[in-house]
Amino acid sequence: MSERKRIYLCLAHMSENGMEQKYVKEAFDTNWVVPLGPNVNGFEADLEKFVGQDKKVVALSSGTAAVHLSLIACGVKAGDEVLVQSFTFCASSHPITYLGAIPVFVDSEKESWNIDPDLLEEAILDRKAKTGRLPKAIVPVALYGMPYDIKRIMEIGEKYGIPVIEDAAEGFGSRFDGQVLGTFGQYGILSFNGNKMITTSGGGALVCPDKEAADKIMWYATQAREAYPYYQHEAIGYNYRMSNICAGIGRGQMTVIDDHLKHHKHVQKMYEELLADIQGVTMHTSPSPVYDANYWLCTMCLDPQVRIKGQENAYKKVITGAVGGAAGVIHAVDSATTDCQPNDNVEALRMFMDAAQIEARPLWKPMHKQPVYKDAPAYVNGVSESLFKVGMCLPAGPYVSDDDVRYICDVIHDAIA
Ligand SMILES: *Cc1c(COP(=O)(O)O)cnc(C)c1O
Repeated sequence: MSERKRIYLCLAHMSENGMEQKYVKEAFDTNWVVPLGPNVNGFEADLEKFVGQDKKVVALSSGTAAVHLSLIACGVKAGDEVLVQSFTFCASSHPITYLGAIPVFVDSEKESWNIDPDLLEEAILDRKAKTGRLPKAIVPVALYGMPYDIKRIMEIGEKYGIPVIEDAAEGFGSRFDGQVLGTFGQYGILSFNGNKMITTSGGGALVCPDKEAADKIMWYATQAREAYPYYQHEAIGYNYRMSNICAGIGRGQMTVIDDHLKHHKHVQKMYEELLADIQGVTMHTSPSPVYDANYWLCTMCLDPQVRIKGQENAYKKVITGAVGGAAGVIHAVDSATTDCQPNDNVEALRMFMDAAQIEARPLWKPMHKQPVYKDAPAYVNGVSESLFKVGMCLPAGPYVSDDDVRYICDVIHDAIA
């Protein structure tokens, strides 16, 4: 078993046709090694064609940059409030704090795991009552690629005149009622980080309503320069444009996005079939055919009663790495536990799979339970916290073969005591 190659959660996967290298080579050959050029334009055109709806797309250095600039475009300033799904990765909410604004976290509905429209409206009314003002934007998140109830979210946004910024960073290619996510709201976030549906090594994009909005974003992304023969600045800008090298990778990846989507869905189907016989294991699936998820990551829930081999050892040791730890510096901690963490059996299953060379991960810990956001207002119904305690992400994506999925499911069967 130790000779098995490790199966990772979701790895970048270059096309078989080598198109990424062709576009990158072109960039070198023509000396377009800068954050603009033919690949950036070509990638944006590919993305516009893919998302449809006559949208304009601006390629940026990361999805986080796209969140940041979309908030600026919605007029978010210091002291403003922004409604954001609590059950998400930190990049949905951190840029709110970059601006000195305040995230107001909203919990999820059980079906999609995404922002609960009833709670959203309750939060809007309560913020208005408490602060006398309406929040400046609503940020739903397509967690693990599952669509949110965008129909109701848009109705609520329109009712109160609050723009919607769709965080579709994990939901590239997911659709709601046939329409690509990121094209419903005023703005849509896309991410091409190494582990997302497609990659540019690192990168992102903002889906904009029209050319005027896209030009404004592009201006902010290139240091907000005025038209003078010297540097003249009348607003604060950012260095957020995508590099022409990265965009070359993106153009190549766009040639395989449909294959990637098909494969993610296929892997999900296999998990559903191969784990159906285990009492207490449930795969998270679309609430209805209207929710066409890309299944960026496949996720399962484990009932608290299910006992896992080695469960008595869960959380006994302080972890020295951390989730996604290979990419940067991780603060060491002196405690193996926090006051809000996955159940012992979930941690035991993660450890069991890890020993069998399978990377599994807990669900994202809700932002309203993160120490860094302890003072932020939150509208909570218990859904995201209870999912966090029982949920787990399983490997998905083009690198995960049918044989890998069968092996992963065998290991999960084996893990049950
Ligand atoms: C990955 C991600 C982002 C940000 O993307 P980067 O390209 O990594 O900056 C934003 N929101 C969510 C929900 C994500 O998962």
